[in-house]
Amino acid sequence: MIVRPKIRGFLCTTAHPQGCAANVQQQIDYIEAQPKAGKGPSRVLVIGASNGYGLASRITAAFGYGADTLGVFFERPADTKKKRPASAGWYNSVAFEEKARAKGLYAKSINGDAFSNELKQQTIEEIKSSMKSVDLVIYSLASPRRTHPDTGINYASVLKPIEKKYECKTLDVNNCKVTPVSIETASEEEIEHTKIVMGGEDWFMWMKALKEANVLAEDCLTVAYSYRGPKITQSIYGKGTIGGAKDHLEATAPEITELLKDINGKAYASVNKALVTQSSSAIPVMPLYISLLYRVMKDKGIQEGCIEQCYRLFASKLFSGQEPLLDEKGRIRVDDLEMREDVQEEIGKIWDNLDSDNITEITDIEGYKQEFLSLFGFGFEGVDYDADVEIDLKLT
Ligand code: NAD
Repeated sequence: MIVRPKIRGFLCTTAHPQGCAANVQQQIDYIEAQPKAGKGPSRVLVIGASNGYGLASRITAAFGYGADTLGVFFERPADTKKKRPASAGWYNSVAFEEKARAKGLYAKSINGDAFSNELKQQTIEEIKSSMKSVDLVIYSLASPRRTHPDTGINYASVLKPIEKKYECKTLDVNNCKVTPVSIETASEEEIEHTKIVMGGEDWFMWMKALKEANVLAEDCLTVAYSYRGPKITQSIYGKGTIGGAKDHLEATAPEITELLKDINGKAYASVNKALVTQSSSAIPVMPLYISLLYRVMKDKGIQEGCIEQCYRLFASKLFSGQEPLLDEKGRIRVDDLEMREDVQEEIGKIWDNLDSDNITEITDIEGYKQEFLSLFGFGFEGVDYDADVEIDLKLT
């Protein structure tokens, strides 16, 4: 089938198998070109391994450190009857497994709901029969909903302010229009439900289940990804419902460290940089902020994508041979370049004057669009997008 991008709102509903493989290869090439890393992880579980930060973490572990990896994610296979390609994360994972195995590495994936007890058990069985134990667990889930495994109740997260109604502007990436946006405050219930979906409870449940099954190695590490962001996005992000969930996630790290103390394990929240991913494109204001952030960071020569962020996290924080430097709240920071004073000062100066007339000139909206399409395997040199491709690729 010939696969073209089909954009629906902030989503692309198609993905190109060969383009996704090119995306994975580009990230592998980046990692392989970096100075050889010191002693790192050797058996890694990545929860949320098929896209964005989780995929980049998996690539860094495998191709930077020669680690065996088990990836957990929730992706859609192709439906050949309906002529529907698989999701990008599916194709990314097929490509990753193939390339990791060609290097002689163990690479296996489990597709299903990571919030469920069944999937946790399946993962534990797989670890027992293959790697015996893991020495690094990356928690990189981004989900709009969660079915609680103990009660069966479905919770949905919302992206809303908490303190007061949010009046700002946002970007419709498809037509480059900057429009006003106004979002009412969240109810107590919405705040709580967002915390249940995106807070630290599930991370804790994973680590408890892994520990009780004796599949965590001595001195193991676990890292969950967080975001804080600058003043401009505070009301909708940092101090909004999602920020509340991230507070909870970050506060779970010391609880997990306590849980793991007899095996000398440690848990960290890592605050990462804002990036174009399938999840961030759904957050109001973020595409506009990211388009401007990219312009400023590119101009200063300090722009990083998921793979650069993950390499820096592994090489200079987690596996540098020293304890990672933490902020006053005990978190790892790799959002340091985004939050640099000169970067935020420049963004602040431009922000108020941004409108539909100057958006293409002042921001890197073209870069944003390109990167968005690349998440679905579109826009890669060397891929023939007019050719018929096999869409029914299997994860083995
Ligand atoms: P993403 O959308 O690119 O990837 C999300 C991953 O979660 C995918 O692998 C998906 O399959 C998996 N997933 C979702 N629901 C699942 C379920 N029920 N069961 C199993 N797997 C499931 O997201 P991302 O942007 O890489 O975000 C990952 C983490 O990084 C999130 O915690 C996010 O808050 C954090 N983060 C993101 C940014 C950013 O700008 N994108 C910045 C800092 C931190």
